[in-house]
Amino acid sequence: MHGRSVLVIDHAKKPAEKVRISGGGRCNFTNIHTEPANFISGNPHFAKSALARYTPWDFCDLVARHDLTWHEKTLGQLFCDQKSGAIIRMLLDELDAANGELWLETEVSEVGHRNGRYHLRTSAGDVSAQKLVVATGGLSIPKMGASGLAYELARQFGHEVITPRPALVPFTFSGQLKDTFSSLSGVSTPVDAHADRGPDFHEAMLFTHRGLSGPAMLQVSSYWRETEPVQIDLAPGWHVPDVLGEARDASPKTTLRTWLATWLPARLADLVAGWPGIPGSKQLANLSNNDIETINLALKHWKVTPTGTEGWRTAEVTAGGINTDGLSSRTMESRNQPGLYFIGECVDVTGWLGGYNFQWAWASAAAAGEALATHQ
Ligand SMILES: Cc1cc2nc3c(=O)[nH]c(=O)nc-3n(C[C@H](O)[C@H](O)[C@H](O)COP(=O)(O)OP(=O)(O)OC[C@H]3O[C@@H](n4cnc5c(N)ncnc54)[C@H](O)[C@@H]3O)c2cc1C
Repeated sequence: MHGRSVLVIDHAKKPAEKVRISGGGRCNFTNIHTEPANFISGNPHFAKSALARYTPWDFCDLVARHDLTWHEKTLGQLFCDQKSGAIIRMLLDELDAANGELWLETEVSEVGHRNGRYHLRTSAGDVSAQKLVVATGGLSIPKMGASGLAYELARQFGHEVITPRPALVPFTFSGQLKDTFSSLSGVSTPVDAHADRGPDFHEAMLFTHRGLSGPAMLQVSSYWRETEPVQIDLAPGWHVPDVLGEARDASPKTTLRTWLATWLPARLADLVAGWPGIPGSKQLANLSNNDIETINLALKHWKVTPTGTEGWRTAEVTAGGINTDGLSSRTMESRNQPGLYFIGECVDVTGWLGGYNFQWAWASAAAAGEALATHQ
């Protein structure tokens, strides 16, 4: 890196394991619609500078320089045609080109700062460096080597850590709701959904044995806090009284249950038709205006309160993390401790599902890299 020697230390057996498993093995490496609004942070302005200076197209250029190709799957999500392994090879080739070294299966047990240098105690011996970039991620998927090292180091050097919480994670339920969802396990349907403090997500929702998942619920989970309800619109984009009114004129003898099944998966239609106050077996011709209003409310404003989430075991990312107040948004350098940088998921910047988290990892890394290259 521009005259500096670079050493990457990782306790994992293999490099970039999360890249390998990402995007179902095809690495959803960025999103062409990346905007600061796609990130959750205590300071929504913090990510702007890095994201503006290293865009999805910068990463696409890098991918193209390595003769790799990609395709857009949906909603601006770019996936690598050659699978995740090719992206890992590319990152390793870039490290080689910068004469960087990679030490795998190396544990960092202690970091100190003396005489203007960082001193690391590692399982492969002591190392010292003028600058230290911490990119050890968040707490999601401990089985893959996630650790709280970044947070420990941040606290050691005087930073505040906003309590990390699992994000992009399925919801779990208990009691009657759990049984109901379990009986619908495998059913998927498009919804508009939001948590109290989050935006509406228009994506698919999936019923599971333990609760609710699918892209819509994963997105909502990043904004959700315990004991809060999740609002679900099971009829996204349709004006129920109009659609139902037309159906009543066209096929008055159809039952409400049958009509619901023309819009919703059959098992879900059966569930809705049996909800209290929903006259599932009534013919459309006999529906009163009150009935229609009840059906409208039930479909458009379904409110469920999760018991919790599947937690760190399956969360795709960690929300919260190192408070951005203590970091420079231009360089990711600590404001307390010169020469110390925090990048990627350990910082309190959490992307939506769909390539945004890698884009933040690349952009924050590029911001720190640029600073390291220009400041001696
Ligand atoms: C199943 C899954 C699928 C995902 N799919 C996508 C996707 O398609 N698109 C997307 O944008 N995002 C995706 N993500 C999120 C994305 O992988 C992360 O946001 C991203 O990898 C964060 O990069 P990072 O470098 O900050 O941390 P990480 O990639 O987590 O890397 C941290 C590294 O630090 C090492 N480490 C940790 N603790 C220590 C320690 N004490 N000593 C030494 N080394 C340590 C780890 O071994 C690891 O290699 C996915 C996540 C998961 C779990």
